[in-house]
Formats: sequence, structure tokens, C-alpha cells
Amino acid sequence: MRVLVVEDEATLREALKADLTGAGYTVDLAADGEEGLYAALEFPIDVAVVDLGLPKLSGLELIRQARAHGKTYGILILTAHDRWQDKVEGLSAGADDYVVKPFHFAEVQARLSALLRRAGGWASPRLTCGPIELDTRAQTVTVRGAPVELTSFEYRILEHLMLHAGEVISKTELTDRLYEQDYDRDSNVVEVLVGRLRRKLDHDDTLKPIETLRGRGYRLSLPRHPA
Ligand code: CA
Repeated sequence: MRVLVVEDEATLREALKADLTGAGYTVDLAADGEEGLYAALEFPIDVAVVDLGLPKLSGLELIRQARAHGKTYGILILTAHDRWQDKVEGLSAGADDYVVKPFHFAEVQARLSALLRRAGGWASPRLTCGPIELDTRAQTVTVRGAPVELTSFEYRILEHLMLHAGEVISKTELTDRLYEQDYDRDSNVVEVLVGRLRRKLDHDDTLKPIETLRGRGYRLSLPRHPA
């Protein structure tokens, strides 16, 4: 999953990046409201963390403009503890949820993960498609109850496909989930990772969990539970 973090305090920004990268996210950073708005409109992000007190353009204005441009991804705002009005204003501007500073990183992670699940139509942190179960909190995967060891890249691909089970996901969209803005992209990597995932999830080739749609991308085609 790809997350945008807009925060002007360098220490907190870098700490969020380290924490979210450790949690398996691809992280884009912005240090002020203008940079943040550019990233919010141009980058293929899944969810955003936006501090409200930002130089150049306020967090509220950033959120209003992102929503006015039709961006529907989840937005989590960071608010100062003595500014209760911020929460109301932030939610009215189009934010989905908030955490109050100082916060525990685990809280930010839990809320982001909930926003991503809801965007994909899932109510629970355990995603189940056919015999495959993926736990977004523990970042573990089982097939018919047996654990499957995945690398962090393989996990990111599978999590994205399962969150959007039933939808066609392009190779570009998957590549965007793996790399940050300034990395060299190579969509062949996605093909290799999908190939490995198929072997790990379905070593006897009976389940066929991931369909290839020529020229369009991939689809996780096993039924969701509950549907
Ligand atoms: Ca700030």
C-alpha cells in the first residue's frame, strides 16, 4: 500500500516514514502544504496522513482541494491536542479520521489499515478469499490454515490484490505499490513476483488464485468471505 505523509516537523516526518516502511507501506513524504497537494493530486497513493498545521498551504486547504479534484482515498489527519476544533474542521473538509499528537505509531497504523480495508469493502482486518486468509495486522498469510512465507514485496502485491479482490489491477498500479517516487521502475518485477506468489499459494496448481488478463493486469478471482 502506498501512503503519503504530509508533515512539516522533520523528526516526526522521518519517524513516520521509518515506522510505516517497517509496517510494509511504500511511503511518499511532503514537508509543506504545497508539496503535499502536488503529491496528493499526482501520485498514485492509497491513503494519506496529513498534519493540519503546515507552511505554505494548510492541511485543511490541501484536503479540500484533493477532494475537489475527485480524490477519494482515505485521509487521516494529525491534530494538536489542544485544538479540538481541528477535528471537526478536518472531518468537514473531507478527512476520514484523526489522531491527536502525541500519538503512538501503532494507533496511526491501525487507523490507516482500517481506512484501506473499508475502501476495499472489507469490514475485518482478516481478508479471506477462498482458502487464502491474509491478516493485515500480523501481515501473515495462510492457505487452508497452513502458513505461507512471503517476502515483503510478495506480501504487498498479495495484500493489494486481496483488498481489491474481484477487480482488475494493472501492472502499473502494482508497480506503484512497490516503489517510491524516485525509484527506477521495472514492471517485469511484478510479473516475477506474481509468478512466485502463484507457486507459493498454489504449489500443485489447483487453486489458480491470480488470473492474468492480457494487456489489462491481474485479478484475484477467488470468492471473498463473507461475500
Ligand atoms: Ca505542523
